[in-house]
Amino acid sequence: MSLKEFEIIQAFFDKPNTQENVILGVGDDAAIVSIPNNNELVITTDTLVSGIHFFENTLAAHIAHKALAVNLSDLAAMGATPAWITLALTLPNNDENWLKEFSNSFFALANQHNVQLIGGDITRGPLSITIGAYGFVPKGFALRRDRAQPGDLIFVTNTLGDAALALQLYKKNISPNPSLQKLNCPNPQITIGEKLRGIANSAIDISDGLASDLGHILEKSHVGAEVNINTIPLSNTMLETISFNEAIELALTGGDDYELCFTVPKDKIELLSEKLKGFSYTQIGTITKSTGLNLKNNNGEKYALKNKGFQHF
Ligand code: ADP
Ligand code: MG
Repeated sequence: MSLKEFEIIQAFFDKPNTQENVILGVGDDAAIVSIPNNNELVITTDTLVSGIHFFENTLAAHIAHKALAVNLSDLAAMGATPAWITLALTLPNNDENWLKEFSNSFFALANQHNVQLIGGDITRGPLSITIGAYGFVPKGFALRRDRAQPGDLIFVTNTLGDAALALQLYKKNISPNPSLQKLNCPNPQITIGEKLRGIANSAIDISDGLASDLGHILEKSHVGAEVNINTIPLSNTMLETISFNEAIELALTGGDDYELCFTVPKDKIELLSEKLKGFSYTQIGTITKSTGLNLKNNNGEKYALKNKGFQHF
């Protein structure tokens, strides 16, 4: 069956509006929305390209989930509450089964975070997905990269390196353990981001490896960091599959974890543990006045990185 552009939109992307702040959603030349009083609008966009960000045989459900998750992860890293999304799809064909699977997975994650799809575009070409995500944060409470202070403690959520390990295994044609599914189905840490408002001095989501992403905080904040590599949280699956040294290298330089890295001043640590009760997060180091990322092990010996984080150019 051959679906035309507007039929695709109608069948798969035009969902009933559930948000009162959407005045006009899908269907007109553009959407109209309103921002709640005393809030600021946080805006992000990310593109996923077939063959670059995912293998050509990746399931439509995984592509949809990841495309949306990486955008929501950027909102999480800003401490924003997601509200709306736009979806620009470039498709090689109008395969109805593919679209159905994509749409189902897309809206499963969108509904989980109560975000409304308010517009987009569909064009023909090599498969590529561009999503815009829009969220709110109370005025002045956004989490930024440029506010880390010397003395802040550095934390990360959950475990690091799992997605990079899954990627390594896929490249060797080995199906990764389901617990490594973060590569295809990352979980945007929206709730933690919201809870960090007014507590964390700075935050970032880890998309290119801890060393590179923490490095962005250090650069923007004009500070340095001391990190104990023995405190970096690693999953049991990681430690059962590869050596500690390999695992640490993946945690520091492997991409696609979409966990949060954030820094908290010492006088807010008690508040932090109250707010994040029940969540998994680990202190890995301290922000220092002297610049640069200083990696050490439990014995205080310097650790030198073997790789750099992922870079497109
Ligand atoms: P225009 O030609 O004015 O850009 P389109 O025909 O591209 O309009 O889109 C018609 C309507 O459908 C618009 O409201 C647009 O935002 C929406 N739309 C198009 N593609 C998508 C999509 N993939 N997901 C959600 N809404 C979409
Ligand atoms: Mg258009």
